[in-house]
Amino acid sequence: MSLDNVSAPVVVVDDLDFGPATGLVCRECGAHYSLGAAYACMECFGPLEVTYQYGDVTREQIEAGPTSIWRYSALLPVSPHAVDEPNLAPGWTRIVHAHNLAQELGMTSLWIKDDSGNPTHSFKDRVVAVAQSAARRLGLTTLSCASTGNLAHAVAAAAARAGQESVVIIPDDLEDGKTVTTATYGGKLLAVRGNYDEVNRLCSELIGDPLTNDWGFVNVNLRPYYAEGSKTVGYEIAEQLGWRLPDQVVIPIASGALLVKVDKAFRELIELGLVEDKPYKIFGAQATGCSPVYQAFEAGHDVVRPVKPDTIAKSLAIGNPADGPYAIDVVRRTSGAIGSVSDEEVVGGIRKLARTEGIFAETAGGVVLASLEQLLASGKLDPKAETVILNTGEGLKTLDAVINHVGPTATIQPKVSDVREALA
Ligand SMILES: *Cc1c(COP(=O)(O)O)cnc(C)c1O
Ligand SMILES: [Zn+2]
Repeated sequence: MSLDNVSAPVVVVDDLDFGPATGLVCRECGAHYSLGAAYACMECFGPLEVTYQYGDVTREQIEAGPTSIWRYSALLPVSPHAVDEPNLAPGWTRIVHAHNLAQELGMTSLWIKDDSGNPTHSFKDRVVAVAQSAARRLGLTTLSCASTGNLAHAVAAAAARAGQESVVIIPDDLEDGKTVTTATYGGKLLAVRGNYDEVNRLCSELIGDPLTNDWGFVNVNLRPYYAEGSKTVGYEIAEQLGWRLPDQVVIPIASGALLVKVDKAFRELIELGLVEDKPYKIFGAQATGCSPVYQAFEAGHDVVRPVKPDTIAKSLAIGNPADGPYAIDVVRRTSGAIGSVSDEEVVGGIRKLARTEGIFAETAGGVVLASLEQLLASGKLDPKAETVILNTGEGLKTLDAVINHVGPTATIQPKVSDVREALA
């Protein structure tokens, strides 16, 4: 994180009910802070992360909980009351055993964790719910974000549900499926002439401005809480597989937070004795038109050099990913790898997933499936090992990606003979 990206934390409050969370710690220098709307270390500007003191957590307690992310409240920086406050109750999405796709790819056991089933049809509802709970505790009444699209949708809906104000800030070139949906909830939507990285920088600047004193930017000043929401994807995968970890997971990378937190979730489950310890590999997936993490990983670098995104996978189009270096650490430590796929391959991935499993993924899902194929072809991913891939969003939001590639088999008169001819 560069110096000009950072403002001092705006709100620091003690003695708040954040459940098992005890404070914030700098991921770079280890400096400790109390729980508050802080996201960057005042010593070294490193990113802050939530620390915990977990109590006894059992499988039975979790299984008796609600069918949403709130079943994992004891492992999140949230009050036990968060479940009862107005929210979209995201999570507990289905996991699909993908026999057809596995067969086509020559794999033994393949699962799809399908997060398109969330209330606003992407995994972002999870992170927003946790950030929204933190915003309440911190007295931040307006919910805000810098978004590549799905986060915009999730924030606008969550704020509407809770009767909160929202100000959502996006690049002006996003898909209709993301801007029209977001705008319908009635909050403020600012479309910026610029890319996501410029929107993100604008938000960092806004945080120093009195205008935003009571704003919670879910992925900026509430980022430590927001990011923890991604752990629930990892918890659910393990619980839904019968309280065990898969051998391999393929995860799309935008900022890299989701990938990092799925690994964190697996490690926590092992430490808490909720699953058996075993080695697993974490794989990343990026579109070639925005693949800074892939490039750094392949070059053996620890530093991620920013790029200017140019890809149809707009939900993943972050050229300067905040968690990029940490994602590389996870992939290296678990002996995984990262895929990088062309837009054409993304479209192919979307169509293959739809054709084989009846799941219509957004472009990020196409990136994951195409990356899976690439990693199999290069021998980096083992076809015989149990594998989970993530579909993080809904294809109806990114129709543009496929609109010129598919259409009616034929357009005919309402006559049996025309049907016969069309199907011949
Ligand atoms: C935001 C997003 C991701 C990845 O998010 P990270 O920033 O890497 O945590 C993946 N898929 C979709 C559809 C998203 O909207
Ligand atoms: Zn620090």
